[in-house]
Amino acid sequence: MDQFDVDLFVIGGGSGGVRAARIAAGHGAKVRIAEEYRMGGTCVIRGCVPKKLFVYAARFAHEFEDAAGFGWSVEGARFDWATLVANKDKEITRLEGAYSANLDRSGVEIVRQRATVEGPHAVRLADGTEVTARFILIATGGRPNRGLDFPGCELGITSNEIFHLERFPERIVIQGAGYIALEFASLLAGLGAKVTVVHRGDKLLRGFDEDIRDRIVDEMAQNGVEFEFGVTIESIHAEASEKRVRLNDGRDLFADEVMLAIGRVPNTIGLGLDTVGVHLDEAGAIAVDGLSRTNIPSIYAVGDVTNRANLTPVAIREGHAFADTVFGKHPWHVTYDNIPTAVFAEPEIGTVGLSEQEARAQGRRLDIYQTDFRPLKATLSGRTSRVFMKIVVDQADDRVLGVHLIGEGSGEMVQMAAIAMNVGATKTDFDRTMALHPSSAEELVTLRAKHATSDPLPEASAEATPAL
Ligand code: FAD
Ligand code: NDP
Repeated sequence: MDQFDVDLFVIGGGSGGVRAARIAAGHGAKVRIAEEYRMGGTCVIRGCVPKKLFVYAARFAHEFEDAAGFGWSVEGARFDWATLVANKDKEITRLEGAYSANLDRSGVEIVRQRATVEGPHAVRLADGTEVTARFILIATGGRPNRGLDFPGCELGITSNEIFHLERFPERIVIQGAGYIALEFASLLAGLGAKVTVVHRGDKLLRGFDEDIRDRIVDEMAQNGVEFEFGVTIESIHAEASEKRVRLNDGRDLFADEVMLAIGRVPNTIGLGLDTVGVHLDEAGAIAVDGLSRTNIPSIYAVGDVTNRANLTPVAIREGHAFADTVFGKHPWHVTYDNIPTAVFAEPEIGTVGLSEQEARAQGRRLDIYQTDFRPLKATLSGRTSRVFMKIVVDQADDRVLGVHLIGEGSGEMVQMAAIAMNVGATKTDFDRTMALHPSSAEELVTLRAKHATSDPLPEASAEATPAL
């Protein structure tokens, strides 16, 4: 008779927890997973997936405008927020069902309630039941940071609420300048809102390559997003039909909604971790080693709750590695080099590897290749946005250290660049790759001049005039 109720108890049915549970069950483990909200977690329910659906919705606005230059008349196009929200909800419910069904099929038992850690091998469910487990995996993710404490801060919404607003916010103030602030600023502006981004700093997207940071603000401003730099929100007052946002320089902004997009915090509070003695880091995230082990041998943690790289594919891979390592007799750990990411703003950003500044800080001598061009489509659409591409190359061995892109398709392109970088591609490898014409991506294999900035900017499309 086994001394534990289950081999593995997973707390949190998000990207990391679901993957870990399924793979562990596949290795023959008896697995139970607790989810207190909706199966699928942040990414599926109120993150990547609904966000990307909204991004698609917003991009039609430009498509309709651009169509005119190609001979189309698109008259009477109207956007209906309620239809978008309802259709999105339907798809999310379908996905949630698929996640549950996959777990069922894998033999994982689902517990639809909150769970907390009771001991090194014990979990307490919200209904009071205690379950013992050989291993416990904490995959509780994170939540929006609501840590600001100014008068009326409770009137601000976060990414949790924005997906369910009954009325489309015609005017919105967004505090923050990270992924979520810029993605929602862009998509809401695309859907017709007047958007003002309020940021305490003087630049967007801390940590990104400086050229990307400089350019994205101009591009987004061209798309109608307004920016207030060097200020913060001091108070929010609800007035009859709007919210008055007082900035710390004394000015007032008026909006239907105020969104706080100032980072996310790991879900570790109230989990019982202190009673068991699980170590947290200074940000309140669970401290783990390269195999996702906490300081308690039977307790592991993966995903955003460990605050390593807070992205869905990373959480999934950490969950998979944990399950293979502990139950599959096949230990492996996740590598965090060359993680590609996209900011699904308008225009889109794609980035992988080191920024120029990070690479220089490592003392490397670099060759920088960059270009800035008008995409072919813009020649007929008349749109003024440009494509920017930058490749950071190590002079010592010609290895590509970073690729940074702004423009349509940047996310898709950078995924491919990440593959090349993972196999150690050099700039020479990029150069000997045949171009695909006409495309924006071909620029990645035709960049010749070091520090080339195509300045003054070419009027003709680079797509139409491949480098010879
Ligand atoms: P989560 O997916 O957050 O899952 C944790 C789960 O645990 C939740 O379902 C929660 O309800 C549950 N839970 C918490 N505590 C308990 C408890 N005590 N008992 C039971 N259940 C509990 N990443 C990308 O890669 N690409 C994107 O485009 C992207 N877009 C995003 C957009 C937004 C608006 C947000 C907020 C995030 C986005 N992310 C994106 C990040 C991505 O969603 C997360 O990195 C990912 O979901 C982390 O997975 P996880 O398993 O660690 O946690
Ligand atoms: P980010 O960490 O990306 O950005 C937080 C922003 O809030 C920064 O601009 C920061 O400013 C600002 N900020 C932080 N604290 C305060 C404060 N007290 N007062 C005022 N401003 C503040 O967080 P997000 O919430 O945008 O996203 C969380 C994470 O979710 C991302 O980092 C990413 O890992 C993931 N995500 C990924 C997406 C994708 O892959 N496309 C999309 C959405 C989320 P400063 O620069 O000064 O620090």
